[in-house]
Amino acid sequence: MSVDSLELKKQLMTGCRVLDSFGIFDEQGHLSSRVGDGSDLICINGNTSPGTAGIQEFETYDLTRSGYPDSVPGETPIHSQIYRARDDVGAICHNHSPYAVIVASAGLELRPVHQVGTIQKNSVAVYDEYDERGGTLITTDSEAKDVAALLGDDRALMLKGHGAVVAGATVTEAVLGSIKLEYNAMLIYHQAAIGEPWYLPEHVIEQNVEFVWDEAKMEKSIDYYLSNADVLNSFV
Ligand SMILES: [Zn+2]
Repeated sequence: MSVDSLELKKQLMTGCRVLDSFGIFDEQGHLSSRVGDGSDLICINGNTSPGTAGIQEFETYDLTRSGYPDSVPGETPIHSQIYRARDDVGAICHNHSPYAVIVASAGLELRPVHQVGTIQKNSVAVYDEYDERGGTLITTDSEAKDVAALLGDDRALMLKGHGAVVAGATVTEAVLGSIKLEYNAMLIYHQAAIGEPWYLPEHVIEQNVEFVWDEAKMEKSIDYYLSNADVLNSFV
């Protein structure tokens, strides 16, 4: 294993542990990354639960080849089709973040209600046109293409009654995006329990998107989450 590949696997393993400790991963879910900028090689946790995956459980496959090795998760097509559609995406997380699933499935709009929960300008799209084969699981390249098309240029998309898909330029962005999506959904859930959610005005969202995804801000955020991973248990 090259030093670069080892470092990437360590980064993915750490990201998986952080997301698991925040209740965003459960026994399922996956975090993937290109193996280098623009690479067609993708590294992803294998069939081991993401929160317990060791470095040896991360697998690498080639985007340009047809079919998938048995060692990668059945929903890997979600990752592949987004990477194929988007050169700007370097990392992807698929998780079952509970508040985001509840809010999206109940038909509430997933749009920022708080600066910390800002991921993107657009409301998060919700995919619900599942084909008949896999139920709510996206296990074929043809259905994954539809998911990638609905995601468009956004960072996040919800699969109704199932989970979230969060894309970023880096592993850090995919991890932070997953946390922010869930945090925002948690706030919407609680606002809806006592009244109407108050969504941020559009111009504020636009300012926040720039603020949140500034490199220095991201470093501060990821440092916080790395040192306070247990804090996430308070989400659920
Ligand atoms: Zn899933």
